[in-house]
Amino acid sequence: MRDQFGRRVEYLRVSVTDKCNLRCVYCMPLEGLPWLRRDDLLTYEEIEQIVRTMAGMGLRRVRVTGGEPLVRRDLPDLVRMLRDVPGIDDLSLSTNAVLLADQADALRDAGIRRVNVSLDSLRPDRVEQIARRPGCWAPIMDGLDAAERVGFDPIKVNVVLIRGRNDDEIEEFAQITRERPWHVRFIEVMPTSSNLEVSAKEFFSCQEALARLRAVDRLEPVPGPPGNGPAIYHRFPGAPGTVGVITPMSHNYCDRCNRMRLTADGHLRPCLFGAIQTNLRDPLRAGSELLPLIEETLRIKPERHYLIQGSDRGSGGLVALSQTGG
Ligand code: SAM
Ligand code: SF4
Repeated sequence: MRDQFGRRVEYLRVSVTDKCNLRCVYCMPLEGLPWLRRDDLLTYEEIEQIVRTMAGMGLRRVRVTGGEPLVRRDLPDLVRMLRDVPGIDDLSLSTNAVLLADQADALRDAGIRRVNVSLDSLRPDRVEQIARRPGCWAPIMDGLDAAERVGFDPIKVNVVLIRGRNDDEIEEFAQITRERPWHVRFIEVMPTSSNLEVSAKEFFSCQEALARLRAVDRLEPVPGPPGNGPAIYHRFPGAPGTVGVITPMSHNYCDRCNRMRLTADGHLRPCLFGAIQTNLRDPLRAGSELLPLIEETLRIKPERHYLIQGSDRGSGGLVALSQTGG
């Protein structure tokens, strides 16, 4: 699958739910969102059918995400179904890890090989303040332990940088990569219509984070772990893990974009931001062919996003990244 700018798209992020058990300050409003109705959600069979069609076009890798994917029942069933789609050779998961301890074995058995875990602080009180869910620290730690125990590899830890809330922990996070084979990725917060307080006033750039880390020790650029996403990776000399930066705001990486997104209600989005999306669910339920719709969505994949720091104008009306899978 190539778009009109020559970018090869072989990666799909599949959101299995818009719901979440956390309320991260940069993502979802505290009161939640108007949730999708059960009938609106794609069934696992429908997701499999869409992935199967796209695999015939060259899709190779699928990431299961949300909302929080582990709140959807029987997720390992979906993973098994996707594993059996010819052509799909990489299945991964993005999770906040709150429910991972209970599900890690089943997910691994079903075919998940690697996980991205969101962890915005190394301090229990801060994690619970950022996620706005008291008591979430202990299960998250259990989830991370389980991720290591069952052998997910690589383990990537996503840290959204928020000035005044976790930017004093950048060195501490990076230090972990000297001790464990984790890939700690700092992410710049992206503006949506529900997070302007944070994205405008508490923005912290990854360039500033890298400058701080270079004052600690030499950082060597490295290719990074499998995944081929937008992160640029570095390593402290001899460290088993890496430090990655994801810079949607300070350094646009859209020219390397290799992905599309499938929302929980069956809309195929060629870009995380912007208003372009194609409803695949209704045609699928009506028995129509998906291939032409997918080809057309790929054709109109925008050249880049138009996010502006401090404004939600470029977000295309997106309220929260939980709606698209991040
Ligand atoms: N609930 C899962 C999790 O938190 O990992 C998966 C979905 S979440 C939307 C996917 C990723 O998007 C997480 O790493 C999260 O930190 C990130 N994210 C959410 N909102 C963001 C924003 N406004 N800017 C940057 N990253 C964001
Ligand atoms: Fe939930 Fe993930 Fe959004 Fe946090 S970032 S509120 S864990 S969907």
